[in-house]
Amino acid sequence: MNAWKEGFLNGLRPQEKLTVDEWSDKYRKLSSRGASEPGAFRCSRTPYIIEPLKELSTDSPTQRVVLMFAAQTGKTEAMNNWIGYCIDYAPGPMLIIQPSLAMAQRLSKQRLEPMLQDTPRLAEKIPPARSRDSGNSQYAKVFPGGFLAIGGSNSASSLRSMPARYIGLDEISAYVGDVDGEGDPVALAEKRASTFTKRKIFLTSTPTIKNSCRIEAEYEESDQRKYFCPCPKCGFYQVLMFEQLRFDSKKLDKVEYECISCKERFDETAKTTMLRKGEWRATKPENAGITAGFWLNGLASPLGWLSWFEICDEFLKAKENPALMRTWVNTRKAETFSYEFQAKLNAEALMDTRSDYLPGTIPEPVVCLCLGVDVQGGMGSATSRIEVSCWGYAPDPSGLAEQMYLIDHNIIYGDPNQGEVWTGLDVLLNAQYDHPNGAKMKINGCAVDSGGLATQSVYDYCMRRRNKGVIAIKGSSRSGGPIIGKGSRVDINYSGRVRKKSGIVYLLNTEDIKDRIFSKVKGTGKIFFHAQTTEEYFKELTGEYRTQKTNSKGYPVSTYEKKPNQAVEKLDCCVYAYSAYSLLTKTAPKGQFFDICSKNLLKSVGSDKNNLKDAKVNTSAKRNYVNSW
Ligand SMILES: [Zn+2]
Repeated sequence: MNAWKEGFLNGLRPQEKLTVDEWSDKYRKLSSRGASEPGAFRCSRTPYIIEPLKELSTDSPTQRVVLMFAAQTGKTEAMNNWIGYCIDYAPGPMLIIQPSLAMAQRLSKQRLEPMLQDTPRLAEKIPPARSRDSGNSQYAKVFPGGFLAIGGSNSASSLRSMPARYIGLDEISAYVGDVDGEGDPVALAEKRASTFTKRKIFLTSTPTIKNSCRIEAEYEESDQRKYFCPCPKCGFYQVLMFEQLRFDSKKLDKVEYECISCKERFDETAKTTMLRKGEWRATKPENAGITAGFWLNGLASPLGWLSWFEICDEFLKAKENPALMRTWVNTRKAETFSYEFQAKLNAEALMDTRSDYLPGTIPEPVVCLCLGVDVQGGMGSATSRIEVSCWGYAPDPSGLAEQMYLIDHNIIYGDPNQGEVWTGLDVLLNAQYDHPNGAKMKINGCAVDSGGLATQSVYDYCMRRRNKGVIAIKGSSRSGGPIIGKGSRVDINYSGRVRKKSGIVYLLNTEDIKDRIFSKVKGTGKIFFHAQTTEEYFKELTGEYRTQKTNSKGYPVSTYEKKPNQAVEKLDCCVYAYSAYSLLTKTAPKGQFFDICSKNLLKSVGSDKNNLKDAKVNTSAKRNYVNSW
């Protein structure tokens, strides 16, 4: 039978009534290529997906369906099922938008194409992409009664191409802020459907940063449905929450859930039944209207996908690292991440956190000292100067990361392209501090900013003092990479004579260093300030905050921004000193840095003969890191 004739006959036959979930269970097939669980698709595997799919069905009056879901909960499959349903059961023009064209291409190839080929009802309607003139390309698929266009939020042409009855907007929190100067991509895309009375808009995403997250804003305007499951012990219906998981954070061996009602504990095997008996309840029924909103965290991920154990394990690994924590909060808890603690960091409150030790004195735990040098002005500027912070580092009792102690901060006025400021820095560099154990402490490392107007002077200064652990650094806002890079060779101009590649400059990942510093400042007992630290100092130290911005390619990125009219030299010094410390730790065997520092300190006291043997063992390690500068 030819397609035309079949279509004609189908038109005469009364169509069976199907919702998206029913269509998926009846017709959708998963092949072993694309799916981890091949065979017939079963919505019962993820029972919470059934209600959103019913809302996407043609009979539901709901026009907009919002999913704010954790990763690995099946939201991509929900989108696929809806696409399949629209192609096969309720054809019409359809537009699917991904954050970028590259992601649109990936979705088409890796997710859609397998579904279209493996589901016979769809394969009949869309010829394979490889046949020429099939109306089937990566970005467009034609089928009887409609077509499917796939685009990226970064391309205005994808968004204003044509009217569409169905609009699927995937991972909207990762969309660009403004597309080619034409406005918000979600609004642009939704406009395509305005002429259709029976339109459907499907918006999905894991959340991102608090207050700049699209899916959160959409969900908050909806009726805010949450998935309630009955306790296997007492039957009380509750939303599964991470906060109710019980586990030993020192030694993760088993994870249990504690019912909020009967306080009984049960393990994850209860989940399958709980999910099956679960139900969506609107927590903001007063918002009920054309938008149905659904929120689900990773605890509901079915057995065999993402386990409670994995969620806890990831949490423990992310605890000390704000970048990892952000991902964990977004993809597991399905919550927006807040850098709120920074907003709360105000100079006045920090004044109360000062310790009793005096500037220039060394608290007992400190075993390593580093200088961070910020270079201001040059070229005849009247405010030319260098600012120098001395920071002490100590092991943290938790064994994770380190403690930091502000020892002192000095300002040396003068042109950094002239000699005097550097003579001044030499004095600070060669200073000796008295450690409470009787040792004389020296500066272990020093990082000098080469990013200003005195680059050559900085290179020159640093190269001549390499053996004292002095390095030239340059800030960079790329995040994700190492805290301090490997160091690249640069030319140095020694009073008119250029020596090719005779210097080294280290690129810093300042974003991640600031994350580390600020995560300490929020009052964790990991950063300490001497008794005379001024409010002005604290103002500068907290003079930047994390925010979401659109980068040059149009992508929203989280980055640090200065508070208006706020100097931040003290923060820069803190970042630079941390980079010097970081480079030192790299050259010691893993986990042994502070031990080596402590033993070297003891050795310099010379009073404890019993420790001399131990200290000797480590002299080669010490030599190792001194040489590497
Ligand atoms: Zn219970």
